Amino acid sequence: MKKIAIVFGVIILLLIASVAGFYGVYVAPFLAKMKHIETVQYDKQLTLVIGGGGNSGILVSDSLVLVIDTKMDDAALQLSKTVKDLAGKKPIIVVNTHVHSDHTGGNKYFAGQTIIAGGNYDKAFWTKDAGADAPPTIWLKDSMVLNVGDETVTILNLPYAAHTQSDIVVYLHNRKMLFGGDVILNKQSPALFARYKADANGYLNAFDLVEKRFDISKVVPGHGPVGGIEVIDNYRTFFKDIEAAVADPAKEKAILQKYNDYGQIPFLMSPGATLRYIRNSAVK
Ligand SMILES: [Zn+2]
Repeated sequence: MKKIAIVFGVIILLLIASVAGFYGVYVAPFLAKMKHIETVQYDKQLTLVIGGGGNSGILVSDSLVLVIDTKMDDAALQLSKTVKDLAGKKPIIVVNTHVHSDHTGGNKYFAGQTIIAGGNYDKAFWTKDAGADAPPTIWLKDSMVLNVGDETVTILNLPYAAHTQSDIVVYLHNRKMLFGGDVILNKQSPALFARYKADANGYLNAFDLVEKRFDISKVVPGHGPVGGIEVIDNYRTFFKDIEAAVADPAKEKAILQKYNDYGQIPFLMSPGATLRYIRNSAVK
């Protein structure tokens, strides 16, 4: 009996050690990298705040300030200070591209302002996931157009699930710039989870939709550096390649190898995890 207890204890210790090792080797460096924040004055009215959670944009006019995504942790506080300095007494409109806490973590600093999010979330689900502080005040079902100074902004709730059940993209017409939220990442594996109804076909449909609907020359991805239209095209190729590997396992090794340099957390958010998610979705 005592022997069994010792063996059991050793197994538990090994499990704890491997979880701690996994966290130390993969998760902690990923999170540390995610915390890094860079503020770019794109032009007189537009500031991009890259990293610190999801990438953000701040568009300032004489009458209002538009903020796209509110980040997480320290970066969220830092972003809110930057926004409040720029806004003074002007009203602030916040857009959350989706529910995830690395894009909504700073909502609490914008209580009392307008907060727009996708209309396909169940409100209780949102509160449970993103917290009850400063929930959205507008649940956008389709799209809306805002005039921010001389910029025309289209805020579009995707008509189907992609990264989550209700993803928003934001397009600045004069700047030909698209904020893709986590539907468009630059060289980073997607986080696909059934809890959020993630759907690879939704991503592919979204790439086609935004390219057809908008004339895009700059892309601000949810994570990773700002780029041109190639950011979308590369991500389409990523999904198509992974789908090809699902259809033909002989291709799997080479295709996963091709995306080895993509930002990832093994097993959770990686090319391999994407492949397994798409394969399991196809089985259902
Ligand atoms: Zn996300």
